[in-house]
Amino acid sequence: MKIEHLGIAVKSLQEADDLFARLLGKENYKHESVEREGVITSFYNVGDSKIELLEASNPESPISKFIEKRGEGIHHIAFGVDNILDEIERLKGLGFVFISEEPKDGADNKRVVFLHPKCTNGVLVELCQEK
Ligand code: ZN
Repeated sequence: MKIEHLGIAVKSLQEADDLFARLLGKENYKHESVEREGVITSFYNVGDSKIELLEASNPESPISKFIEKRGEGIHHIAFGVDNILDEIERLKGLGFVFISEEPKDGADNKRVVFLHPKCTNGVLVELCQEK
């Protein structure tokens, strides 16, 4: 596993893009909307990892709910894996609980699943595999 990216929930992608472009000294390499998840994302390369900024695209979006409850900030940590189905089986066998055990299409050409934060010290953990 490696840290593939950190997801950061933001209220305004435009404002956050301005800030992160200045902070990192480079522009994002893509914007991508994931309508099923109710998010618009912006990705930055940082060494071997990435930053994923997440803005809600509707009031029912998990990102809207996260920001209402906890404000802007780190939303999830994503571990890149070579075989997501094997990792799901391995972690299920160790008692980890998934929000959904079926990998879905995520942003940035990935198959993704999320572990329930109740079983990971309150941190939302994403597993992702390059498609
Ligand atoms: Zn992510």
